[in-house]
Amino acid sequence: MKVVLIGVGQAGGKVTQRLAEYDYDMGFGAVQGAMAVNTAEADLRNLDIDTMLIGRDRVKGHGVGGDNELGAEIMQAEATEVMDGLDAKLSTEAEAVVIVAGLGGGTGSGGAPALARELKRIHDIPVYVTGILPGRDEGAIYQANAGRSLKTVAREADSLLLIDNDAWRTAGESMEEGFAEINDNIAQRLGLLFASGEIDAVDEVAESVVDSSEIINTLRPGGMAVLGYASAAASEDAGENVNAITSTTRNALLTGTSVPNVVEAETGLLVVAGQPERISRKGVERARSWIEEETGSMQVRGGDFPLDSERIAALVLLGGVERSNRIDEFMERAKEAHESKNDDRGEAKEAFVNEELDDLF
Ligand code: GDP
Repeated sequence: MKVVLIGVGQAGGKVTQRLAEYDYDMGFGAVQGAMAVNTAEADLRNLDIDTMLIGRDRVKGHGVGGDNELGAEIMQAEATEVMDGLDAKLSTEAEAVVIVAGLGGGTGSGGAPALARELKRIHDIPVYVTGILPGRDEGAIYQANAGRSLKTVAREADSLLLIDNDAWRTAGESMEEGFAEINDNIAQRLGLLFASGEIDAVDEVAESVVDSSEIINTLRPGGMAVLGYASAAASEDAGENVNAITSTTRNALLTGTSVPNVVEAETGLLVVAGQPERISRKGVERARSWIEEETGSMQVRGGDFPLDSERIAALVLLGGVERSNRIDEFMERAKEAHESKNDDRGEAKEAFVNEELDDLF
């Protein structure tokens, strides 16, 4: 699937750059263009991709702090300029726009939903948001911001691919130490997903490749999506890899998803990557039907991704996921943080009579 990436805010810019680098290094050619937008000049300086500073008249290049309402306002006011900057990258071949943002900060948290709304108004291709949730140890303001941003993005984007900052990092590392590793993991996994729709079936030995439309159809239910990943050593003989494929798929779904403990989904896509001669058709078919049973979805697609590796990897994309325990738990954290933030300011609590978080706009 040919995509144009736009990172909003600090995390958004860093992850976008990693994704563009990964796609380039692997020679996939799925990333057609990448750009980073921010209200903080300093955060743009470290990036090699194209950048654009917004909100100059309001915050003078110093960022919005954690004020995601201001982040949304600035993006609403300057969305036309941002989209103009994106136009040259949005060739006729682009099949989707992917906005990347940390949902817990200010610029990305407010800017991502505002930009998604504007892009959807103008373009026919899908507009997806990859949203990063703050880890458990991050402060209350991050949780509160992310809760409101998540709600608003899920409403505005064609699909919100959620990544929990606690999901793909090594236990014991601090959040900052973990960022480089998390960003590498996001780049590899999302990068593989985009590239999996790019394999030309005629040129490759793979028997059943994934098409871009299968990724788009898997994300069609809207709402939230998650991505799972796992890999394992594989035998040289496909016939011996039935179990390797089914158990790797199980690990991808049960322990390797970008938001843990998601079990119910409307749609699914399984991509098995590895040397074509090591991929067992029977294994892929069994793993695909296992995902259908496990998620209650009747629409799980499956395909191969020829990759020169002695290991076998399973990538599982789930669309229209139900709010899992983990997402409920996160929304609870966000709500509490939002309420205590407002208590501190001495504001009335009436806004929370229905105990729901407000949308951002
Ligand atoms: P913004 O610049 O105002 O949009 O704010 P940030 O992008 O710094 O958003 C803060 C959130 O993003 C927090 O939850 C951070 O933990 C997270 N974050 C910041 N940098 C990174 C990063 O490099 N990788 C990841 N995965 N998360 C990050």
